[in-house]
Amino acid sequence: MPRARLMVSTSRSREVVDITRQVQQAVDEMGVEDGIACVSVEHCTCALYLNEYERGLIADMVRLVEELVTRGDWQHDRIDSNAGAHLAASVLGSSVALPVTGGTLGLGTWQRLLMMELDGPRQRNVTVSVVADR
Ligand code: ZN
Repeated sequence: MPRARLMVSTSRSREVVDITRQVQQAVDEMGVEDGIACVSVEHCTCALYLNEYERGLIADMVRLVEELVTRGDWQHDRIDSNAGAHLAASVLGSSVALPVTGGTLGLGTWQRLLMMELDGPRQRNVTVSVVADR
């Protein structure tokens, strides 16, 4: 199964990075025309999701996460003070499956594949695995 590993560097504690172009480039290099791409992030405090990459919406998403997880007396904070990042990553998810048609990721007009850093800055690994149609 064709597979690629991408590295994505983040520069803030919480931020949203549009990784659509890098993932499409990885699919291009695999030469798969039709199939299913599974994109996953290899970390517990980072998430992947699909949505529009619009400045206001990005700020709203960061605010939503902060409002969701900053209240609370989380048990994991006794270990390394990042329970909120783990919880937000669990709610958002760590992988996205997308159709590949004619070599192109199956995204809607405004959809982008977004990685949300929840405990940065860090270097993150993203895996792209493609199951090709026969
Ligand atoms: Zn932790």
